[in-house]
Amino acid sequence: MEKTSALINRLSESATLAMARMTRELKAKGIDIIGLSLGEPDFDTPEFIKDAAKQAIDDNFSHYTPVNGLQSLRDAISKKFKRDNDLDYSADQIVVSTGAKQSIANVVLSLVSEGDEVLLPAPYWVSYSEIVKVAGGIPVIIETSIEDDFKITPALLEKHINDRTKMIIYSSPCNPSGSVYTGKELSDLSEVIEKHEQLFVISDEIYELINYQSVHASLAHNKSIYDRVITVNGVSKGFAMTGWRLGYIGAPKWIADACNKIQGQFTSAPCAVSQKAAEAAVLANPDQVRYMIDAFKQRRDYVLGRLEAMPGVKINTPEGAFYAFPDISALLGKTWSGGSIENSQDLAMYFLEEAHVAVVAGEAFGDPNGLRISYAASMEDLEKAMDRIEKAVKALTD
Ligand code: PMP
Ligand code: GLU
Repeated sequence: MEKTSALINRLSESATLAMARMTRELKAKGIDIIGLSLGEPDFDTPEFIKDAAKQAIDDNFSHYTPVNGLQSLRDAISKKFKRDNDLDYSADQIVVSTGAKQSIANVVLSLVSEGDEVLLPAPYWVSYSEIVKVAGGIPVIIETSIEDDFKITPALLEKHINDRTKMIIYSSPCNPSGSVYTGKELSDLSEVIEKHEQLFVISDEIYELINYQSVHASLAHNKSIYDRVITVNGVSKGFAMTGWRLGYIGAPKWIADACNKIQGQFTSAPCAVSQKAAEAAVLANPDQVRYMIDAFKQRRDYVLGRLEAMPGVKINTPEGAFYAFPDISALLGKTWSGGSIENSQDLAMYFLEEAHVAVVAGEAFGDPNGLRISYAASMEDLEKAMDRIEKAVKALTD
């Protein structure tokens, strides 16, 4: 008898990865699908990083490393935190993991107990809620609006905190909204966090380098809450290294120790060759990957212009990451030959089946009025995709 655990039964499949799977399956059948569902740079890893990895293979980095990562990599990350974020994390406050996804899972499993509430300003990245559920925690959504650029205010945060609130998880630049918190906004939020001593924050800064407007701000920079902030970062997005599976945290030492303990039981340590590649990435001058950011900005401007012109689509200006998150609520309730579009998931399926463009429904991000479009794709694909989406939207609204 097939009987999976209670944990598996209450867990959702990752919506981003599910859409990527469906896209692959349809493409394999010969259907010309344009995939704008998966959040990963379409660039290949820069040569200088690949060279470091090749050298690591020749140098026999083929053994287990320390669980929390090679000393040389943790020293490099410590320098990077100081250089780019003015944050002091010594090497023993850093844990390197198999992707920032594992970093987040380590932290949540280290701090969240059964019944603890974890605040997720929506729209949030799909895996936050599921990782919280794995730990037995209760995701509590804080709704935001497109008019406020999907950002929370100190008052909104305060309203959601109670005695059971253990943690807040947010990303800036944000996946999926592209919003970026300024230093001042984070410092205002830190005053609320400071007052509630039981509260920890995961500040997910994996899109740090993909920021078109402002200087990146780190929450841990606010000294009064430094002891309760876990800064997550990684090389997947900024250095086009999604397949290398390498992320890291800077955290208070006791939290880093707890993550180290969990990781020691789950994966032993991240891949040694990827660690040496990541060392080259974090030590490099971020200007070396500027060409990717410039290309993303050009694509952002293009996609934004096209979405703004579509009927029934409301859009704000995403200042970072590589996603647009339009409000499509005006399209709900419309019908097509395949049925009626009741929710964002139906709209995503309509775009997939009718327009042959894969995007991700807002429900997975805790915002049923939205839809995520990843513009980390070639201009040629984006032009085709926007033409197709526009045609499909007009078919609904004409
Ligand atoms: N956080 C956010 C907000 C992300 O978009 C991603 C990418 N899926 C991750 C964490 C995890 O990245 P990775 O595991 O590839 O380092
Ligand atoms: N972070 C990416 C996304 O949101 C990759 C997919 C995933 O890991 O969920 O699409």
